[in-house]
Amino acid sequence: MIKAKKSLGQNFLIDDKVLKQIVNCLEIKNKNVLEIGPGTGNLTKYILNKKPKKMTVIEKDNDLVDNLKDKFNENLNIINNDVLNIDESSLFNEKVIVFGNLPYNISTEILSKWIINLKNDFWFENLVLMFQKEVADRIIASNNNSSYGRLSILANWKLIIKKICDIRPNSFSPKPKIDSSLLIFTPRKDYYKLKNPKNLEKITRIFFNNRRKMIKKPFNQIFNGDLRILEKLKIDLNLRPQNLNTETYYKLTEEYENLRS
Ligand code: SAM
Repeated sequence: MIKAKKSLGQNFLIDDKVLKQIVNCLEIKNKNVLEIGPGTGNLTKYILNKKPKKMTVIEKDNDLVDNLKDKFNENLNIINNDVLNIDESSLFNEKVIVFGNLPYNISTEILSKWIINLKNDFWFENLVLMFQKEVADRIIASNNNSSYGRLSILANWKLIIKKICDIRPNSFSPKPKIDSSLLIFTPRKDYYKLKNPKNLEKITRIFFNNRRKMIKKPFNQIFNGDLRILEKLKIDLNLRPQNLNTETYYKLTEEYENLRS
């Protein structure tokens, strides 16, 4: 009997209806698949039944890795490591579909790592990822919504994001205290070509440093009150950071990069 480790965010999905819904949200047959945090292999089993071309999993917990080796033997390529240490883009020669019922304590860290390291040539076809509902709400929020912020702006920059469903605590064992949501991410063809994603991180960090205050101070801090940029982007300095849409933040980052080149 496997005892779930809270420190590794282990809440195993045990609801067949949800497991089916996850593997049915896109075509898996003959595709390369990567699963992050396979745990006891509940989702892994459903994915393998759909006959992927090649399947790799990354699991940090040594005990669970032993268990996975017994269960799936040669059908599965198992990497026993911390996903934060892996360069996923180097694992496959072709694009992959990524699945993950992510450990909640590092889910935004994993996503941010992928977004920041994303080169113009995407290494994945789709990401199908589960987050705690509150985090998923922040990822998909639009401007003027209280959940809107840096994560929404960063995640939507190169990715189209859709919610598939919400999932209740009793679909897991042990039961988490919170609801979860399943999101699907698809690469955008027409995203703003920024020189360095770290600049988008920087601009949004400065603007959202104080989300209740008007954007006058952060704007002046970065652009020294440049009226030309205000007029070009039609920005009203009396607005608050959550009133500017994602596109405005990408354009502000472009302007910032132009000033520095
Ligand atoms: N996919 C399984 C399921 O749905 O039943 C388990 C999901 S559980 C929420 C998260 C899994 O990620 C656990 O198996 C945990 O051991 C693993 N994990 C936690 N931190 C990790 C890390 N840094 N790198 C790789 N795996 C990790």
